[in-house]
Amino acid sequence: MNKKKSAPGAPKLAPSRKSKARKTFRVGVMGGTFNPIHYGHLLAAEQARCKFKLDRVIFVPTGDPPHKDSDAVAPSEHRYLMTVLATSTNPYFRVSRVEIDRKGPSYSIDTINHFLEKYTTLNPSIYFISGLDAVMEIMTWSRAPEILEKCVVIAATRPGYDTERARECLGERVFRKIKILKASALAISSTDIRERTAAGQPIKYLLPESVEQYILNHGIYGEAAKRG
Ligand code: NAP
Repeated sequence: MNKKKSAPGAPKLAPSRKSKARKTFRVGVMGGTFNPIHYGHLLAAEQARCKFKLDRVIFVPTGDPPHKDSDAVAPSEHRYLMTVLATSTNPYFRVSRVEIDRKGPSYSIDTINHFLEKYTTLNPSIYFISGLDAVMEIMTWSRAPEILEKCVVIAATRPGYDTERARECLGERVFRKIKILKASALAISSTDIRERTAAGQPIKYLLPESVEQYILNHGIYGEAAKRG
């Protein structure tokens, strides 16, 4: 071997071939209880897809939310099926059962690691999308620093939301890492839909018709809404 050593201080030779930057597969992971899914979630996901040039957005309904009384949340199979119905017409959207099928509490870091592993050959970049109110609590989540290190966190805000409160709550260093997405249809809320359904009030145009029919046919969110 006759490897020539360059003289100390000599300029480094440019590589003979330009190194091609490897394309990343940009995956949005839309985390939520989706109790139920509505147009606010769907529009936020689509706006995130366009703004961050995502190749795919995977909706991940929580299984057993670690921070919630499970009696207050509709069964995971109903929430999963409603999410499938709502997303079926968008070719970029998928729904994952990963948190529903995983035993124990649904920790977002396990979900992020699952998708990093699943798409490892495609050089994935993960964009974790959720509501700002949920993201404001992120530092209390399991292995929060690992989440912030392994993915871009996108926080969708309701119209008129004061992001200064989020800055104060998260602290400047963490707040700077979060991408804020002004989601135009997030005036719609799952809580409002549940309350309207229980009171027998209309929920039309707040969510896809297929989901509305599913809720009414299965009597989810109150007997008042049950059909037949
Ligand atoms: P939540 O407390 O029910 O929701 C907080 C707010 O964010 C609500 O206003 C909600 O509106 C909105 N929101 C929730 N998901 C959204 C989404 N994908 N896009 C836009 N707005 C959304 O929060 P959650 O749904 O239970 O949890 C959100 C995510 O955080 C889930 O993926 C959950 O697993 C994760 N999380 C993880 C941990 C952990 O790892 N330890 C702890 C807490 C939460 P609507 O009510 O209208 O949806």
